[in-house]
Amino acid sequence: MERVLITGAAGFLGSHLCDRFIQEGFHVIGMDNLITGHLSNIEHLLPLENFEFHHHDVSKFVHVAGKLDYILHFASPASPIDYLKIPIQTLKVGSLGTHNLLGLARVKKARMLIASTSEVYGDPLVHPQTEEYYGNVNPIGPRGVYDEAKRFQEAITMAYHTYHGIETRIVRIFNTYGPRMRLNDGRVLPAFIGQALRGEDLTVFGDGSQTRSFCYVSDQVDGIFKLLMSDYVYPVNIGNPDEITILQFAQEIIKLTGTDQKLVFKELPKDDPMQRQPNITKAKEILAWSPKIRRDEGLRITYQYFQSLPEEKLFQKDHKDFKAYKS
Ligand code: UDP
Repeated sequence: MERVLITGAAGFLGSHLCDRFIQEGFHVIGMDNLITGHLSNIEHLLPLENFEFHHHDVSKFVHVAGKLDYILHFASPASPIDYLKIPIQTLKVGSLGTHNLLGLARVKKARMLIASTSEVYGDPLVHPQTEEYYGNVNPIGPRGVYDEAKRFQEAITMAYHTYHGIETRIVRIFNTYGPRMRLNDGRVLPAFIGQALRGEDLTVFGDGSQTRSFCYVSDQVDGIFKLLMSDYVYPVNIGNPDEITILQFAQEIIKLTGTDQKLVFKELPKDDPMQRQPNITKAKEILAWSPKIRRDEGLRITYQYFQSLPEEKLFQKDHKDFKAYKS
């Protein structure tokens, strides 16, 4: 049986990846320090013989007994609010964590896929973004800790590939949504749905003319799986090119939730990218992949998930005490 290590296993994307690899018949070793992840996301996997969970921070030396065929590095805070709160851990998991895992991949002769991001393009001057675009990133701005960690992660991964001959894959993930997103992580989709469910106004940052392109999680996971199994070592964008403004998105959420909430406009956060849309030509040609789930369908499923949460969760502030974690 093939064995895969998935870091960030208790997070949004990590937990969906665990599900997919279990379905595909792998032995899955999930690892997470639970700083932004939640065990509730993988509770259903814990009793399975083919699943094991290791509570560990990958910024520290990583040990896994036995053979490993694949490593997927998905541990990282990933919402702008999270990485503002825990900037040092964000830098460390992308740099030291990636270094540790590449070392592990080398020893185990495993193929390693890293989760990179559309944030490597920063506030892009090229639109839609192709993999050839080098980006427009402010290294010392609020997003710099995430963007530069991810850019370093790509650099060290390519260096291990060229210097040590490690088999590596790099996925650049664009905005992805679905069940198991954290209600209070500050991202726009859980923020708007949470506000609608609590009967609050929806907070649109800036004038809402900035754009994003939202990909449903099952499409994202499928793209990642196909990339891992391909022989392509350069970065590949995975996302849904269906681009909308945040203002339109707020209106869609109001319609979806059947509420008559108002919009309130707040200041646009510093370095908030004005436009974002993946060019997915490479994914189409190399992986024969393209997204299948339309936004209305994906949003419906995601809304049902948030509705099914216990009501007290809706009113809970993010209860994670980040300060309890040493950086
Ligand atoms: N946004 C918003 N209201 C919110 C949260 C986010 O208008 O309550 C905007 C944010 O300024 C950004 C977009 O929605 O332009 C997407 O933000 P998110 O934090 O989800 O992710 P990003 O794509 O910026 O990393």
